[in-house]
Parts: sequence; structure tokens; C-alpha cells
Amino acid sequence: MSRERATLAPYAMHSEASRGRRYAESPHPYRGPFQRDRDRILHSGAFRRLAYKTQVFTGDLGDYHRNRLTHTLEVATVARTLARALRLNEDLVESLALAHDLGHPPYGHAGEDALDECLANHGGFSHNRQGLRVLELLEQRYPEFPGLNVSAEILDGHAARIDKHFDAGNLIEVQVVEAADSIAYDTHDADDAMELGLLTLDELLEIPLWRQARDQLRESYRNLRGKTLRRALLHTLIDWQVGDLVAQAERGIALHNIRSAENAKAAPTIVRASSPLLERKRELEQFLFDRVYRHPDVLRLREEAQTSLRAMFAGYVQRPELMPERFLERVPHDGVERTVCDYLAGMTDRYAEREYGRLFAGKDERH
Ligand code: MG
Repeated sequence: MSRERATLAPYAMHSEASRGRRYAESPHPYRGPFQRDRDRILHSGAFRRLAYKTQVFTGDLGDYHRNRLTHTLEVATVARTLARALRLNEDLVESLALAHDLGHPPYGHAGEDALDECLANHGGFSHNRQGLRVLELLEQRYPEFPGLNVSAEILDGHAARIDKHFDAGNLIEVQVVEAADSIAYDTHDADDAMELGLLTLDELLEIPLWRQARDQLRESYRNLRGKTLRRALLHTLIDWQVGDLVAQAERGIALHNIRSAENAKAAPTIVRASSPLLERKRELEQFLFDRVYRHPDVLRLREEAQTSLRAMFAGYVQRPELMPERFLERVPHDGVERTVCDYLAGMTDRYAEREYGRLFAGKDERH
């Protein structure tokens, strides 16, 4: 703790001020509470399964592009850079980043939308709310309590994602992870889409943000082309955005006179891109939406994924005994629909595919 006092800024979340855990535990002899949270998240089954879950593009398409796990690690590394530059609590930031996508079902947002539809009359489904269920309930690794029993600051930070409460009321550590997520997916979805041939670099260079980066690079490197140019552009774009956020945050901390974690929660969000960059990011996101997330190949896979998840949902609701014991046990408490959804949401893409083929595909073809 004295290490935190020496290295963290006064506005950082100091672990000695943590509100603690739901189920009280004695302190660890040499790991701080947020360090312990990070270790628990990293050792969870839900975390490992991120390796086989879609980020934007399914695993069938190749080995280059991001999956949920590599995306999560990229978010964590960008968030740590921001945290170190601002002297925030890196253990807390890393825990939040590693946990930020734990509730994602198989098949990315296509899977999320399908499950939300299936649960329309039973409370709906969102990956952010599911993330809290994973942290508080579904991971069963300790005899003393359900879930991972992480610190209150991790649960609060994750809960802020549910209704996108990022305008105010959050620790700077929470704000940093949200900003890092946006940097990571804006940049890497474009990179993956180029690798998969959905976009060309020339098309991306029509977007002002990418063009500006290219113009800047040309000042130092005249002859960069092809993949080398593409990678250099990605580095430049990430670096720009991180630099802009650090400067903006420092300005906000001074402007709102933020001197403690409590002050930070009372102030508006300070980790946000400057307005010119925000505008450039919006243009890029619109472009990615039209050209990548709504690309016919992506939409076709989306449709297939949703068909199989819907069939599985109906199938398991009809025959809950097909689920493993530990889910079946939850049915009387949570109801069959929610329990089936928990089971489905925990699946990796490939596991879902296998179970669909094994249990439900034949049945579905008769329709
Ligand atoms: Mg994410």
C-alpha cells in the first residue's frame, strides 16, 4: 500500500480506500486487492473461453484477425498505457479491462442480439449485464462464495457499461478502460477487415482520420507501401488517440480540480477524445458500420449464427435435461429461459457449433 501512496496520483483509486468484497476475506500477505481481482479474472474459465469467441469475424475465416481474447488483451495494454501516463491504479485498470467482455456469448453481437430476442419476455440479454452474472454468480471456483467475489470497484466499473453511464460518476480508471476499448476496436476492426479483403487500404484512406495519419507518416517515411504502410498507420492512429486522451484527461483534472477518487466520481467524464478527434472517429465508425459490420459476408454468417442459437435456445428450453447438472440445478431458482441463456452465453463459437450439430441441427432441417 505504501507503494501505491508513493506512485499513484491523488485522484487515482487507492486500494486501501476500496469498499471491499461482498463476502469478506482476509487480506493477502503480498498481493493487493485489485491485483488479486486481476488474477481471479485471468484464471477464470470465462476468460479462457474468450479465445474461441468471435470479436467481429468468426474463427473460420482465418488466423490473423482478432478474437475476443486478443481484443481483450489489446484493450488491457492500451488501458495500462493510459493508466501509467496518468498515474492511475494499473491493477484496477487491468482487472476492468480483462473483465470487460467476459459476458459475450458466442458469435459476437449477432449472438447477443439473438439471445436478447429469445429472452424478450424474460428480462432480455446484454453482454454487459451477463458480464456481471459471470463475475458474481456463474464462475464457480471457490468453495466459500459464488462468482469471483471481486472488489466493489470492479463490479461498479463494469456496471457502468450496462447503460453506458460514462458521462459522469465514474473513477478515472473506469473511464480509461472504456476509451481503450474504443481505440482498440476502431483501429483493429479496420485492420482485420483489410486482411480479410472486405476493405482496401485505398478505401480507408478516403476517411479523413486515416488520410491525416498517412500524410503525417509521409513526412518521415516517403516510400512506405502495402502492409508496412498499413501497420505503420495503425501504430500512428493508436498513438495519436492515446496522446490526445492523456492531454485531455490532464486538462480535465486541472479544470475540475480533481484531487481524489471521490472528486473524480463527482466530476464529468474527463477521459474523452478532443472534439476534432471525436468527429474523425465518428466518421470512421460510420464507415466501418456501413462497409464492414454490414458487409454481405458478415451478414450471412450473422444470419447462420442466429438461426443456430435460436434453435438451441428452443431445444434446451424444451429439454433442459440436456444441459450439464450445474445449470439444471439453477432452473428452479432462475427459470428455464434464463438458465438456458446462461448456458448458451458461456459457450465458445466452436462448442456451440458442435452442440448445435449434435443435438439440434437434424431437427431443425425438417422445418
Ligand atoms: Mg471490447
